Amino acid sequence: MTEHEHVRVAVVGSGFGGLGAAVRLRREGVTDFVVLERADSVGGTWRDNSYPGCACDVPSHLYSFSFAPNPDWPRTFSGQEHIRDYLEHVADVFRLRPHLRLNSEVKLMTWDGKRLCWVIETSSGTLTADIVVSATGPLSDPKLPDVPGLDTFPGKVFHSARWDHDYDPRGKRIAMIGTGASAIQIVPSLQPDVARLTLFQRTPPWVMPRVDRAITGAERTLHRQLPFTSRARRGFLWGIRELQIRAFSTQSNRLGLIEQLAKRNMARAIKDPDLRAKLTPDYRIGCKRILLSSTYYPALAQPNVDVIASGLSEVRGSTVVAADGSEAEVDAIVFGTGFHVTDMPITERVVGAEGKTLAEVWRSGMKSLRGATAAGFPNWMTIIGPNTGLGHSSMILMIESQLNYMADYVRQLETLGGRAALDARPGAVDAWTDRVQERMKRTVWNTGGCTSWYLDGNGDNTTIWPGTTTEFRSATRRVDLGEYDLLRPPSAPPVPDAALEPRTKKTAEAGA
Ligand code: NAP
Repeated sequence: MTEHEHVRVAVVGSGFGGLGAAVRLRREGVTDFVVLERADSVGGTWRDNSYPGCACDVPSHLYSFSFAPNPDWPRTFSGQEHIRDYLEHVADVFRLRPHLRLNSEVKLMTWDGKRLCWVIETSSGTLTADIVVSATGPLSDPKLPDVPGLDTFPGKVFHSARWDHDYDPRGKRIAMIGTGASAIQIVPSLQPDVARLTLFQRTPPWVMPRVDRAITGAERTLHRQLPFTSRARRGFLWGIRELQIRAFSTQSNRLGLIEQLAKRNMARAIKDPDLRAKLTPDYRIGCKRILLSSTYYPALAQPNVDVIASGLSEVRGSTVVAADGSEAEVDAIVFGTGFHVTDMPITERVVGAEGKTLAEVWRSGMKSLRGATAAGFPNWMTIIGPNTGLGHSSMILMIESQLNYMADYVRQLETLGGRAALDARPGAVDAWTDRVQERMKRTVWNTGGCTSWYLDGNGDNTTIWPGTTTEFRSATRRVDLGEYDLLRPPSAPPVPDAALEPRTKKTAEAGA
């Protein structure tokens, strides 16, 4: 077999997860690693989503790495360009550039059970790695609905995550498809400039006001000179969200109060009762992600906006047709229709020990051990894996917990000595998954009466973590070797049982 470059760790993706993994590996003293990135720059979803109005709905001081605080965030909620700049800055400050392999799209990762390594074919060549950290994220591959006639549309078509900045929407008739977190930011940005905006709303979202303001010079100076003030601010933002989780996870009846606030937010801007009726959700708030905007409803009340309370079902020439038969003639169609979250295309490209792809194994539902590893895929782990998403707080907290797990995994593998790999035991994966799903039953995401992208094709919630970020932090602090099978190369002498002894007596049953 041809010899390829070999690294200890291959990280896939250079968004928050991938760059965070790179920083953590360096801090662990591991320098023999690469970060494979399909695009020509870092940033992940914050590079790809550059649509007008793109911003984060988690406050800046919480939506950043704890190990890389930024005292100079200009606003309480950051715009996309600020977050992208921040990630470029992280790549520089932590000296990650030499590890980056840009324009290197992973085509296939195959487990080689004889050599105990992953063979990774990329668009820029092949390499092998002892460990793969897949940090491609769930919001990386745009999802377009299968709409009959779309290929015959003579105008412009694009997805929110692939914005065509060469297209000038001014004076045009635009169809906006979807009313998720992306669409509600795009609508108020486009509305003032376009001739007509037709919004296709399949399900109305719950929208709360977004209290965004510039962070004053005095605040920034304070954070720069007294870093504990920045940590205190982050701690406060984290704490209030941590307290909210109970309402989502076990006490969704309490959310009625929040619904009243959201309705008031709508009533302030929407005076037309028919439009208000169209925009009022019929499911419990929180079941889908609660959206934050103070400009969405005012934009919908403008005379150049039509809300069609029905999904796009067909395109006939330049006419877009809704499921309820409503029609509009448009110059461009913008899809704000989300991402492949529970059917991530990267899983088609991971071939495990049994010769099956991760997509095949996960077809009946994504399953992992502690959101990280999958049985039959030795030394492969994912950042933002199954059931690690949040509906109420910052994903960076969850990413950092997963980085703790990754760091301990690498450390423990090292202490085992020789060539070795860890494969999650199916029983441990099942025990973890059952525990998570048991807790999920009572949550608003499962009981709130909506269909959301948190649910997979079978109706199972395989994306959200049903507890606090603190609980996840403690469940991912250490790798319990008792939850793994230790693999050695086939020719190696048998391993004494003592080497397999779990470091703690805890098993997956005590997990979630
Ligand atoms: P999304 O939340 O998955 O929303 C997709 C939207 O498209 C939904 O409203 C869906 O309707 C609609 N849709 C799908 N097919 C349709 C059709 N044929 N006709 C009409 N509507 C259709 O996607 P997203 O808005 O891109 O957001 C994805 C995630 O990205 C968010 O939940 C969030 O995690 C993240 N995000 C975050 C921020 C932030 O501020 N941090 C900003 C943007 C995005 P149904 O509701 O009926 O399915």
